[in-house]
Amino acid sequence: MEIELTEVSSILTRTSGYLRRVVSHSLQPYRGCSFGQSLCGVGCYVQHSPWIMRGREWGTFLEVRTNADDVYRRQYSSERAWAHRRDGFFGIFMSSATDPFLPQEGRHRVSRRVLAAMAEQPPDRLILQTHTHRVLDHREAIKELAGKCELRVHISIETDRRAIKGLPRHASPIERRFDAARQLQRETGAMVVITVAPLLPIREPKIFFERVRECADAVIIDHFIEGDGSSNGSRTLRTPLPMVMEEIEPGSTALAYRDEMVAVARSVMPGCVGVGQMGFAGEFS
Ligand code: SF4
Repeated sequence: MEIELTEVSSILTRTSGYLRRVVSHSLQPYRGCSFGQSLCGVGCYVQHSPWIMRGREWGTFLEVRTNADDVYRRQYSSERAWAHRRDGFFGIFMSSATDPFLPQEGRHRVSRRVLAAMAEQPPDRLILQTHTHRVLDHREAIKELAGKCELRVHISIETDRRAIKGLPRHASPIERRFDAARQLQRETGAMVVITVAPLLPIREPKIFFERVRECADAVIIDHFIEGDGSSNGSRTLRTPLPMVMEEIEPGSTALAYRDEMVAVARSVMPGCVGVGQMGFAGEFS
């Protein structure tokens, strides 16, 4: 892993595209993602961004934005005012192009410092999106922020399969992610959401969503078609993921599979199921 310490001049990015209806800004404490060589990295849409990749292999580089918290403080007032004019609220998605709670966060503590800055100057809405149980290391900050803004913690669990033949290991064991969700829900006051994104074949859907119900307030199901930021999932179709999905569960690369899973989830968690972009925007039914 090539790790580089960098400084940025801007940390709040105004949203467009998929996140436009969800929040006003995204925030990336790192550029690159050290989970890129794990299972979630296989279909990760970020690897299709030439601006981020710059000819490198996904999952082999990480730029640590050491001054992210200071830049957040500096940008806060003007970006908040802009967001209120455009959207009526100042909402931040952390993060859409990296994971804020990577193992390297233990050493560099960029996300920790950003969360502290947010506790001083909170947004109206904050969505913390992660693939790892390491989010638990931040439970005190999450608890504090839950009292200051509308806070959702999204933990991605894309399948109930501990391993998928032909794909690398999960970045974080499924059991530990469920445990992290349960603890955050009990201890922090934040809304906890399991994001099944992108949806992978689920072996026992009813049991899976019953487990989700035990540890989260809601679930969002997002298929790579409609969910990877391209028309018809063309970005993901260029990766090995669809072929492996079809081998495990024929038909799972079609939107009809998502609808089937949504129906099961709604039977288990009525009123608490979001679908795709509208789910990320907080619409549950
Ligand atoms: S954690 Fe997120 S950003 Fe990182 S590789 Fe996985 S899906 Fe991509």
